[in-house]
Amino acid sequence: MCGIVGYIGFREAYPILIKGLHRLEYRGYDSAGVALINKEDRLSVYKAKGRVQDLEEYAKDKDITGTIGIAHTRWATHGEPSNSNAHPHYSQSESLALIHNGIIENYAVLKAQLIQNGYTFQSSTDTEVLVQLIEYIKKLNNCDLFSAVQIALNQVVGAYAIAVIEKGKPEQIIAARKSSPLVIGVGDGEFFIGSDASPIIEYTNKVIYLDDEEIAIIKRNEEPKIVTIANIEKTHEIKQLEMNLSQLERGGYPHFMLKEIYEQPETLKNCMSGRINIEGTNVTLSGIIDHKEKFINARRIIIIACGTSWHAGLIGEYLFEEFCRIPVEVEYASEFRYRNPVIHPDDIVIAISQSGETADSLAAIELARKAGAFVYGVCNVVGSSIPRNTDSGSYTHCGHEIGVASTKAFTAQVTVLTMMALTIAKEKGSIDNDKYIDTIKELQLIPSKIEKALAANEKIKELSKIFTYAQNFIYLGRGYNYPIALEGALKLKEISYIHAEGYPAAEMKHGPIALIDNEMPVVSIATNSAIYEKVVSNIQEIKARKGCVIAIINEGDETMKSMADRYIEIPATIECLDPLLTAIPLQLLAYHIAVNKNRDVDMPRNLAKSVTVE
Ligand code: GLU
Repeated sequence: MCGIVGYIGFREAYPILIKGLHRLEYRGYDSAGVALINKEDRLSVYKAKGRVQDLEEYAKDKDITGTIGIAHTRWATHGEPSNSNAHPHYSQSESLALIHNGIIENYAVLKAQLIQNGYTFQSSTDTEVLVQLIEYIKKLNNCDLFSAVQIALNQVVGAYAIAVIEKGKPEQIIAARKSSPLVIGVGDGEFFIGSDASPIIEYTNKVIYLDDEEIAIIKRNEEPKIVTIANIEKTHEIKQLEMNLSQLERGGYPHFMLKEIYEQPETLKNCMSGRINIEGTNVTLSGIIDHKEKFINARRIIIIACGTSWHAGLIGEYLFEEFCRIPVEVEYASEFRYRNPVIHPDDIVIAISQSGETADSLAAIELARKAGAFVYGVCNVVGSSIPRNTDSGSYTHCGHEIGVASTKAFTAQVTVLTMMALTIAKEKGSIDNDKYIDTIKELQLIPSKIEKALAANEKIKELSKIFTYAQNFIYLGRGYNYPIALEGALKLKEISYIHAEGYPAAEMKHGPIALIDNEMPVVSIATNSAIYEKVVSNIQEIKARKGCVIAIINEGDETMKSMADRYIEIPATIECLDPLLTAIPLQLLAYHIAVNKNRDVDMPRNLAKSVTVE
């Protein structure tokens, strides 16, 4: 949520900041702004409601000179998207400019105190309170900017990644973080800051990840100095980035989402690489092997996640219970953290998050760790907060995901969960060897089967035209495909804004079947499984009420072809791996319907990629 970028060095800052904002736009896109210390030492702030492009338009005849600057693309939490609520925010005297990602929870109290002291506010944001507070403290204590930021952050409750610059001080940026991500890129005589590494990678692959409650003083030609808000000086480690620039480009596809859907054969190969041996007889996740006693003796697994990752978690429940015979609970992180859950020291908590920065998941992890549970992270972004705050974990290695609606990260999460379940089951002796090897061998075939599933794209595109104007959709699945019904419905909601609900197919007759009439499209996942016949009956129940059934079926399933109104064929696989294939046509269906409706597929309204606020 919200993208932060900063530059200090010897080049013109503005083009670097704008390019960085474009790269970060997926994180928030309701307004954007930039602050520069110009050649004549003026501190200029330019901002505009809308996209980064609107900011560029607005700033094109302004003074955009200067070799130091900060910029922001916003996802509003406090105050509507508008020019005045956009960041950066000036302090009262306009001598400071600040950008912020997160929420200042005690902003109202602080604001009231500042108003009593003569401060006035131009915006409805919590962020403006922070910059005013810093200025107030600076004047009151007659101290430098770093000390004022340090004192202010001790008074703040909430989450922040901030960067501040000061008029007349073109030699430094002060940056700090708590519960919101911030990366410093280390160049030669120049430094970059970013909410993630995407605005940085073009210039350097050396980065410093700030930890919670750390403040960085970043000056040209000097090593950044890092001090905590409790005034403890920290040594920093410079890490190498593994990302490459091509991951950040659309590469000929009209949308990142379509590119990412098509990348899945490759991303899943990357996800398995080095973990499954070539012969397909062994899978090893070092994050599990290094702590195998914990997993063998686990009383229970609790999976915490949000959104699409939560759906991956539901598939994890089926996998762990089938292979490892360990009871599993899957929880929304936001509910788990506030309901005083029972957590035992011999529980394993698995946190799943694409960004590794999901605020609710981070809070749930803290709770689980305090209760003594072993916490395992399944994340995509290397070096993000969840991997740094968990006992162990596995990366999904699917590359940068930019489309706000997750696709390739989801299938990679399911792949990691499958490999986790197999690794634990082998160590625990809860899976027989034939099944273990058959599953691994079949998992290795999934990338090429996804390629075959993708071949249905043209057919799905045609099919999507019939349903562009549908008002509602129902998605049905059973067993391993029940979470895919939820995920298919979520994809459609997110990017087409059509109301859609996912249900376990047999649950229909307990209420939702009342919704069925000849105007209701019902997407039914009807691939081979142990309960195939039951799914057939569920489809008959829909047909008997004149519902329009779009069935996802295995190639050559003549029974389903004759029964469904429309069908999409995909290759067959074993039941536990079926979600990796059934997800594909549902991603494509949502994509094409959204394109037909002229929706902003990669940046759907009201959403942002990385949910760093609760
Ligand atoms: N709370 C701040 C605002 O609403 C920052 C939101 C963000 O992270 O973009 O302006």
